[in-house]
Amino acid sequence: MEHCRHIGVISLFPGMLRSIFETSIPGRASTKGLVCYHYWNLRDFGTGSYHSVDDYPFGGGGGMVMKPEPLGEALDRSIESLIGLSGGIPPRLVYPSPQGKGFVQKVAREWAESPRPLLFLCGHYEGIDQRILDGYPLEEWSAGDYVLSGGELPCALMVDAVVRLLPGVLSNESSPVNETFSNGSFDYPQYTRPRVFRGSEVPAVLLSGDHQAIRRFREEVSRKKQQAVRPDLNGNPAGVSR
Ligand code: SAM
Repeated sequence: MEHCRHIGVISLFPGMLRSIFETSIPGRASTKGLVCYHYWNLRDFGTGSYHSVDDYPFGGGGGMVMKPEPLGEALDRSIESLIGLSGGIPPRLVYPSPQGKGFVQKVAREWAESPRPLLFLCGHYEGIDQRILDGYPLEEWSAGDYVLSGGELPCALMVDAVVRLLPGVLSNESSPVNETFSNGSFDYPQYTRPRVFRGSEVPAVLLSGDHQAIRRFREEVSRKKQQAVRPDLNGNPAGVSR
């Protein structure tokens, strides 16, 4: 696939990601040939007759640690494969981690604009052997200040945020240009039919046909909400660029 953005995942539960990536917008992006997803099951690289992928931590402490050998093998194989598929471009290596920098819309945009394939290493248990983080140029990115059981959900949300920004993935009408965060602000509230729902009417200005007035109304409402909820964003109201 010449114009395909290649996105790979190394995971103990690739089925979790497959079902998400085959659904809705991430799924449509792949059907259109705009994104190609690749899965490496870490278990296939496990050691010994049990294909072991975890072991006890040196120095004691609770929980298990993901062993370096299966991770190293899976990374080597997937990196080589993605380089081949993308005409020699090395993938950006992402380790979703609560200790990473916060993944935000600006980062999603940068990844979407870069031609580099993305390769996600999904951790589990207490995390991965530190020597893998030291030996590969893995970028640690966090889904938020909370601890999840594994890297699959953060991976899924990062991929979704990136894929919907790729050219051709969304239709023009649902363009991401004016969405929340796209210019440091919130999107405006949306209304559809019926005009009256349980006694509550759509704001009259939206039915006025006065595009200037509609723009001003949307700007004001989105600015007020953003300043009340997220004053740190401090951007242009979503309506400004319309
Ligand atoms: N012991 C680790 C710590 O306290 O930093 C947490 C390990 S967590 C149970 C298992 C895996 O889930 C991590 O290796 C990471 O891949 C993923 N994970 C958990 N929370 C995450 C978050 N907020 N953002 C991104 N990945 C996360």
